[in-house]
This record gives sequence, C-alpha cells and structure tokens, in this order.
Amino acid sequence: MPSKLDRRTFLKTGAAAAVALPSYASAPAAAKDDTPMKAYREPARDVPVVEHADVVVCGGGPAGVAAAVAAARSGAKTRLLETNGCLGGIWTAGLLSWILDAGNKTGLMPKLLAELRRRAAPTQSPSPSAYDVEQMKLLLEEWCAAAGVNLQLHTRVVSAARDESKALSLAITESKSGRQAWSAKVFVDATGDGDLAALAGCGFDYGQRGAGLVQPMSMIVLLTGLDPKAVAPFVRNLVTSKDGNPKKRLFDELNKAGVCPSYAQPTLFYIRDDLFCFMANHEYNVSAMDAAQITQATLRARVEVHKLVDALRGLGDPWQRVRIVVTPEHIGVREGRRIHGRYCVTEQDLATGAEQPDAVCKVRFPVDVHSPDPHKTKGIAKARVRAKPYDIPYRALQAKDAPNLLMAGRCISGDFIAHSSYRVTGNAVPMGEAAGTAAALAARSNRSPVDVPWEDIRRAMDAADHG
Ligand SMILES: Cc1cc2nc3c(=O)[nH]c(=O)nc-3n(C[C@H](O)[C@H](O)[C@H](O)COP(=O)(O)OP(=O)(O)OC[C@H]3O[C@@H](n4cnc5c(N)ncnc54)[C@H](O)[C@@H]3O)c2cc1C
Repeated sequence: MPSKLDRRTFLKTGAAAAVALPSYASAPAAAKDDTPMKAYREPARDVPVVEHADVVVCGGGPAGVAAAVAAARSGAKTRLLETNGCLGGIWTAGLLSWILDAGNKTGLMPKLLAELRRRAAPTQSPSPSAYDVEQMKLLLEEWCAAAGVNLQLHTRVVSAARDESKALSLAITESKSGRQAWSAKVFVDATGDGDLAALAGCGFDYGQRGAGLVQPMSMIVLLTGLDPKAVAPFVRNLVTSKDGNPKKRLFDELNKAGVCPSYAQPTLFYIRDDLFCFMANHEYNVSAMDAAQITQATLRARVEVHKLVDALRGLGDPWQRVRIVVTPEHIGVREGRRIHGRYCVTEQDLATGAEQPDAVCKVRFPVDVHSPDPHKTKGIAKARVRAKPYDIPYRALQAKDAPNLLMAGRCISGDFIAHSSYRVTGNAVPMGEAAGTAAALAARSNRSPVDVPWEDIRRAMDAADHG
C-alpha cells in the first residue's frame, strides 16, 4: 500500500511519477499536507543526447518531409522526428486527400504529384489534386529512405535547449524510448503549430489580431459505397456546370435528411475507384495548443460526421450504401502559432502581389478564412482583400529569435490573413524544400542559415531538381 503522499501523487500524475518518487516522498512537511497537489516538481535528471546531426527537422508533415528529403539529398546528416505513426501530417493522419496550389511549383512537388498519379493508375481520379492517402504514406517513407533521412516516428518534441549564443542546441523528445535529446547545427520547425520554436522561447502570433479567434478545426473522413456517376452533382470535382453549386446541393441534401452540418459548405471530393473524401465539420474556437480542447473537438466531430453520413444513408439512393471507411488519426488543425521571422508575410503583400528577391515560391491561392465566428457565418468569411499571386521570401522562414532555426509550412512568419492563403500544402512543400536545402548548406559551412545567400540556396535546389 503506498504512503499517503505516494498515493496522492499516483492519482495526480500516474504510476511513473509515483515510482520515481522515493526521496521526495519522505519529506515530512509534504507528508502532513492533505490539500490537493497543485504542481509536482520533477527531480532533475540527465537526458541522453542520442545523436549529433547536421540538421534536425521536427514534424513530418508536407513541409517537414520536404525539408528532410532536401537536407539529406544535399548531403546533410538529417534526423526527422514525427509524433504520429506515419509521415504526411494532414495529408495522411488528417486524411486530406487533396493538394491545393501545387500546379505552378518546381522541385519536389511536381515529382510527388506525378508519382502519386502513376501509382493510382488505372483508377486515378480525373483531378490532379486528388491522391490516395495510403499511397502517400508509403511514398513519403520511400522518399525519406532513399534520401538517407534518419526517421523516428512516435516521437514528440517536448522541449528545447539553447547554448550561450542563443542558438538552439537540442530538441528534446518523449517517446516509448523515454526522454531523448537530439543535437544539430541547424533545426527546422515543421510542426505546423510551431512547437519547437515556442519551446525554444521564440516569439509568435496566434489567431486574429485583437480577439485572437482562430479558424475552426475540421474532421475529414473517407467515404465509400457511392457510385461516382450517381452522386456527381454533389461532388466538387465531378459536377458539371449545369448541375450548379455542389456544396449548396449537398447542404440542402443533408438538411433534407434532417441534419445541419457545422460547416455550411460541406464538400465531397472524388478520390479514385469508389473512394471519396468528405469535409462537413467545423469545430470552433479550439486551441491548437490545448490537448483537452482538441480531444473534445475530436469526440464531437466524430459523432457529427457519423450522424451526417447515417442521415444521408437514410435518404436511400444514391446514398443507400454510403459508409465511412475511416476517420482520421488527427483532426485537421488549420491554425497554430505563426513564429516571428525576419520577414512577416502580410495581407498587404497579397493585395499588391508582392515580389521578393528571395522568393521561395509563388502563392496563387486566395484568402481562405473559414469563419472563426459561427454567429457570423458557418462557411467561409468574406475576404477583405483579393490576393494577387505573391512571393514567400526565404526571410519569412528564418526565426527572428534563434539564429539556427528555420520554419517551414503553416508556422512560418505571416499575419492572420496571409496565413489563410499560403498555408495550403502546395506551398508547404516548396517551403520545406528551401528550408532543408538552406539548413544543409549552412550546416556544411558552419554558418547560420541567415548568412547563406539566397542565390546559393536557389542554385542548389535547381541542381537537385535537374540532377
Ligand atoms: C480541414 C483542413 C482542410 C484543408 N484543406 C486543404 C486542401 O484541400 N488542400 C491543401 O493543400 N491544404 C489544405 N489545408 C491546409 C494544409 O493542410 C495545412 O496548412 C498543412 O497541413 C501545412 O503543412 P505542414 O507540414 O505545415 O503542417 P502539418 O500537416 O500539420 O504537419 C505537421 C506535422 O508535425 C507533426 N508534429 C506536430 N507537433 C509535433 C511535435 N511537437 N513533435 C513532433 N512532431 C510534431 C504532426 O504530427 C504533423 O505530422 C487544410 C487544412 C485543414 C486543417
């Protein structure tokens, strides 16, 4: 039977903490105290530094995989750390199935699209944006292996250490292997939510200026049991011009079935064979940094999507055999931290179509704010600016507060409106590619990535592209 404090600690923090406690448990003052424990001070411990890499990439989503592959192909000893059991982030664990703003890109993106299409033949979707989630998982793993990326899945970055020059020296993780530290010359934060940068103490913005509202999260699901021809008028990439608006039609259909989706513009995408992707859920005001909130959102969303699909099925043909193949491992998070960089991409850049001397990629995707306030609309908020094609500069990938940290993907430096446009995965990949290449060049020459001229990075990417 554990002592009073042991038992209380066990209840508050779990068995592992209780086991690690003997010297603390013997403190007489604490033993007499019956008030519920507010905090538990962990005993200091040594964390093994398990690897010295040139480049550590945290987060293996679209941006992180591109960063790791680019760094490794550029000759850097590269470590990729990912908390899920697969690579791809929203592409796979989130079941996205649809890549936006990829058409005008060079480098890894067109190769990825072509390879996904080749693997889906002969039943590939008519849309180049659609892909098969399972094929994506396998392809990303193959790319990392071929490039020589050292990968550890099931591993979450939970802390960071800096040296006396303020440079990041370690990313610290938790996994089944316990706590581990990973050292590198250059780090890339591709966690989507900017976890590594925030853990290292870098400044960031979150949500709208003022109220801090964020775009809703969404649970995307895969469906089957539908005949593409029969449901074409409801499907974004099968509809013909005479069918009218497929989202409105699907919304009306759901209403007819007696349910009203939390996202007012429910969307059905055709992927391949009889596989579809369905997005009809919005979870409002959920913090990407709060596990309890994300949990509740996940539970609510799963109930809702099942209810919506069950209701459709109840309508009979063409929905009679519709069923959910899978709900995602992780609910889709549109917004996390936007880490302060040496350049902040702004709404004004979109309005003017800003061109940059260190352009990583050209964004052609519009402002796309899923309304943070369901009382105003449960659809897309009206855009204040019309975006012209604009550049993402390399400086927006450079952390302002740490000399050897780059960001890639949705956590780069930008304002709320700009983020709503550049966040899509057709841009996350070239951002990752640039960050990974820059990190490798910096590590090779023992420089800060800030000191690597953009022309050198561009040249290295072009050479890799044609190599
Ligand atoms: C519902 C929804 C619909 C969308 N629709 C589209 C669309 O149709 N097409 C499109 O192109 N884009 C779409 N987007 C936008 C796009 O998916 C994201 O902006 C994209 O995820 C950006 O890629 P990323 O690599 O920055 O982030 P993510 O895909 O979020 O990847 C981040 C990765 O880091 C990992 N990670 C996070 N924290 C840690 C940690 N502490 N330690 C280790 N690993 C960590 C995660 O597990 C994940 O694998 C959509 C987004 C959502 C949420």
